[in-house]
This record gives sequence, structure tokens and C-alpha cells, in this order.
Amino acid sequence: MKLYSTNNPNSFVDLKEAVLKGLPDDNGLFMPTSIPTLPDGFISDIKQRTLPEIAFEVCKNLFDGYIVEADLSTIVENAINFPAPLVPLSKDINVLELFHGPSMAFKDFGARFMGQLMGYFNKGESQELNILVATSGDTGGAVAAGFLDAPGINVTILYPSGKVSDIQEKQLTTLGKNITALEIDGTFDDCQRMVKQAFLDKDLCSQMRLASANSINIARLIPQTFYYFEAYKQLEDHTLPIVFSIPSGNFGNLTAGVFAHKMGLPVQQFLAATNINDIIPKYLDTGIYSPKSSTETISNAMDVGDPSNYKRLVDIFKQEGSTWNNMKELLTGYSYTDEATIEGIKEVYSKYGYVIDPHAAIGYLALQKYLKSHEANGIILETAHYAKFKPTMDKALDFEAPVPERLAALSDKEKIAHSMSNSFDEFKTFLLAK
Ligand SMILES: *Cc1c(COP(=O)(O)O)cnc(C)c1O
Repeated sequence: MKLYSTNNPNSFVDLKEAVLKGLPDDNGLFMPTSIPTLPDGFISDIKQRTLPEIAFEVCKNLFDGYIVEADLSTIVENAINFPAPLVPLSKDINVLELFHGPSMAFKDFGARFMGQLMGYFNKGESQELNILVATSGDTGGAVAAGFLDAPGINVTILYPSGKVSDIQEKQLTTLGKNITALEIDGTFDDCQRMVKQAFLDKDLCSQMRLASANSINIARLIPQTFYYFEAYKQLEDHTLPIVFSIPSGNFGNLTAGVFAHKMGLPVQQFLAATNINDIIPKYLDTGIYSPKSSTETISNAMDVGDPSNYKRLVDIFKQEGSTWNNMKELLTGYSYTDEATIEGIKEVYSKYGYVIDPHAAIGYLALQKYLKSHEANGIILETAHYAKFKPTMDKALDFEAPVPERLAALSDKEKIAHSMSNSFDEFKTFLLAK
């Protein structure tokens, strides 16, 4: 398997280099040179496969012999060890629950797979590997859990002070061991900028081995394709066109869906559902991409003002003709305010008796709107368990939705984080002192 940079289609790296580096030197993003269609019969026989078996087949096809099958099978089985059930709400609305992993968010898929893959590639190295990750909420907890105790690997997590929920903060600040949390006085975009700058810094790169764990790492994206197939498998009715509604921030999840589509998954449309940080819906509307600083909302994992995977989407859709037109054929954008989000949570509960989190509530609103003018079978990605956003849930519902034991236990644990300004120099000094 070979990968290139979106900024330079003529320089190639192998999977190991792409995973360990995270970002190419030219500030682009890694993309596989080919995303091959899965073999005939894979889709028609999919009901006979378990989720880890689907994951194995997808990787085998994409990696093309790069990792021997026995090792690949171990990586997949260790990483994908929790289910992704599809819950029907009505005849054309389904919820794909992606929160059954350790941190109760979809990012567990990416983080665990990347942890396994990096551990595999790092075997036999003498110098420690330092993972840097910026989080707007859920990435931190997932990466912390996915890399805890990984031999030879240290993880540093940057999160915006006061902008993640209490539970999210506990998930990334209470594990200790090889996991360090930095509480940044700034926004998620500041955190992301600091991490990006670290990878371009000559002093840091010459003195330590750095790797990224954000959704920009291709190892995060690949496992996110698995559950699109898993969702398809669980659908009862395959006669209507299939639509995925994807609550989006950095657009890793949606990009993974487009990968699955390229591999042969029959999908009619992907709904790019955002909060008022509506850079991609605006782009789909106007053809103009205008990033800006992010605005805080109650669906805070999607508060992104310059979605990093936009570059990958452009790269995929630029193949022939107008990028914008090609993208509009497969993607439709929707955005919603916090008030609408709260109404969405209320409506899903009153109509279907299902407690949906604020992010997927936006996915629900987008799907509802789409279904008003299209006949389709819709799947909403439920990206995190609602209990991670308790204050919002309490505001939306007139009862207290139960908190799973695993999350409730976190409140007794002690937070350990280093406070830091949003200056890159301070971050650099901290890293060099380690
Ligand atoms: C990260 C996250 C998102 C956004 O996913 P992207 O792949 O960055 O678009 C949506 N919902 C929740 C709960 C998340 O944690």
C-alpha cells in the first residue's frame, strides 16, 4: 500500500511512514494511491460476516499484503472488540450506535485501531514515540484509552480549557501513566494549530520522535469505514436508496464514509450535518470555502472552523470536472442552531422514546429534512453516548436520563492536567523538557 500527500501527488510513502508521521512534511494530508473496490460478493454476502471479519476484509483489500494476514487479524481483533448496533426508530430512520467502546464515542474505533497499528509498527524501535493530539472533546478520551500502557509510546493531549464537558475532561485527565493532559487557555483551533506547528518544527523533530493521533492520521480514518458496512449489513430493507446522516466537525467520519462508498458500499447520499460552524454546508451551497474561527455550541465536538479533512474531500472529488459539482452530487449540507438541536433531542424522545445526544440530534434534523423530499432509508451516526453531555440533556428532557456506570464512576477520580497558554513556544519548551 502506498500513500501520497494531498499537496504533492508525486511523492509516496508506505503505510508505516504515513501512520507514524501522521502529516506529510508539506503540510498536506496522506491519501492512499488507490481505494480498491471490494471483491464481488462481499456486499451481497455481508450478512454472514461479523464486524471484525468485515474490518479484516476491508483492511486486507486496502493494505494489499502490506501486513501479513495473521498480524492483521490480531490488530483488527484487538481494536474492534465492541459492537456497533443499528437501532431502528421508524421505517426509514435508523441510529447506528457508535458509543459502545471504552470512551463511549465513535472515536474509540479510530483510536484503538491506531494504537494497535502504531504499537505494531513501533516494535523494535529504541527511541520513545511521542503522540501529540488536539481534542475538541471526544478525541482525547478515546486516544487516552486507546494508547494507555502502550509500550514505548507517550501521549500528550491538548484540550481547550472550559470548552469540553466535565466527563470528557475526566476521561482524558485521570488515566495518568503514559498519558499527559495539557489544558490550553484558548480554542480547539489553537490546540490544533499548536500540534500542527510542532510537526513542522525542526528542533522538535530532530530531538524526539513525534506522531499525531488526530483525525488527520490515516490510521484513524481507515477503521471508521468498517461501521458503514456494518450498518448496511444490519439494515432490513435494501430496496430503498441508503442515506447516511453524519454529525460533522473535522469531517473524518464523513470522509471515511466516502472511502466506503468508493470501496463499493451502495450509498445514495451523505448528509453533512453541522452546528452553526457551517463551513462545509456553506461551501456545498456556494462553492466558496471560507474557514473562520470556531464558535462554541452545545455540540462542542463539532466546533471546528477549518475542518482538516476538507483537503481530503477536495482530493477525492477533484478527479474529473468541477470539484464542487462532484462533491455536491454525493454530499448535502445542513446546519442547525443550539435551539434547534434541543428541539431535535425533545422530538426524538417524544416521537420514538429514544434518547439521542446533541451531535446526533443534528444528524436527525438533517435526515428529517432530507426525507421530506426524498424516499430513502436513513442511517444517523450516533457519535457519542448522550450521558457525556448531561447539562444539555437535562435542559432538553424533563427527566434525568440514566448515566451508565462506566461514566458515573469517573466523577470520583482526580483530574491531573498542566495549564498552558495558547503560545506555541510554551508548548515547545514543555515538550523539550520531557
Ligand atoms: C468528533 C466528534 C464528531 C465530529 O466528527 P468528525 O469526524 O471530526 O467530523 C461528532 N460527534 C462527536 C460526539 C464527536 O466526538
